[in-house]
Amino acid sequence: MRIGILKGNGIGPEIIAATQQVLSATGRTFEWVDIPIANEAIALHGHPLPQQTVDALKAVGVAIKGPLIVDKLQGRLTCIHRDGTEHTYPSLNNAIRRELALFVNPRPIRGMGTISGRHNSLDMVIMREITEDVYIGWEHQIGDIAAEAIKLTTRIAAERVARFSFEFARKNGRRRVTCVHKANVLNYTDGLFLRCCRKVALEFPDIAFDDCMIDAACYHVVKDPARFDVICTSNQYGDIFSDLGAGLIGSLGLAPGANIGADVAVFEASHGAAPDIAGQGIANPIALILSGALLLRHVGLAEDALRVEKAVRHIVITGCMLTPDLGGISTTQQITDAICAEIISTS
Ligand code: ATP
Repeated sequence: MRIGILKGNGIGPEIIAATQQVLSATGRTFEWVDIPIANEAIALHGHPLPQQTVDALKAVGVAIKGPLIVDKLQGRLTCIHRDGTEHTYPSLNNAIRRELALFVNPRPIRGMGTISGRHNSLDMVIMREITEDVYIGWEHQIGDIAAEAIKLTTRIAAERVARFSFEFARKNGRRRVTCVHKANVLNYTDGLFLRCCRKVALEFPDIAFDDCMIDAACYHVVKDPARFDVICTSNQYGDIFSDLGAGLIGSLGLAPGANIGADVAVFEASHGAAPDIAGQGIANPIALILSGALLLRHVGLAEDALRVEKAVRHIVITGCMLTPDLGGISTTQQITDAICAEIISTS
């Protein structure tokens, strides 16, 4: 089986190597296809996301991606297509998603034993729409006195992410989908998103549906960890809410994710490139390892996915091997070796 590998930067190369080691410990043979991105792609093709990289991702169909350092204030990127058309995106991460027509970013947040304290029972999946909202990057300066941005919501994208959320709930034995929005203020954009979710909910009478304002959702998830099951939300709320969820269970280093489209899926941790700890060998690889498990499930290897997830939970919950973000002193390599040993010993 061929899996594309985008190493990324910051802690990316370290946690990518750990994830490859863990997936190989399942006993499956994978053909790793290195695909250049960011600085590697600039060196080879003169652009952080060249058409060669987009083509290679379409050819493999599934890939694991390390995080990318995003320049604050100057992340905009223009991709020029072979037919001469071009598109400007607000960041490289956004460009990857939209050049590949990836439309939903599932981010599971699941508590882990004592590490997650009173959020041990938190078990929700955030379905974040990733093609529109304020992250389309349509913003401009008005002289030097103001700047404005456009928030885009379309019926097609809102219904698509809603349908994906309900289908996911049905397939995975989940009981409730909650639309998270701010439709009391943003009557048109978030109002449309909410109305689309309500409409799609009618197609799934076996799954409960409700909605919650984003500010109230932040309050509820802190006070009552069991409140949410599957959350369907727009791009920016999903981005922020998932970091809150990761913090509640103990670390950004525990939160996996995926970017799913009709033909291509790219699996990545919820966190960023953590440049403050890059190269020190202490990054927590678990979020990306769990993203690798999501990839296995996506390609039909559910049993292998479960083995990886169980091994990770065993290592974290026993607390014998923890990276510094979880209060331990173990290195990336030590925790990776421990997870591999656990997978092999329980096979
Ligand atoms: P971005 O804007 O791309 O999300 P950021 O710098 O805002 O980047 P992160 O890179 O996710 O956010 O880092 C936030 C904090 O969490 C940093 O202190 C970082 O060291 C820590 N962190 C993130 N991921 C990990 C990880 N896998 N292991 C340990 N610490 C991490």
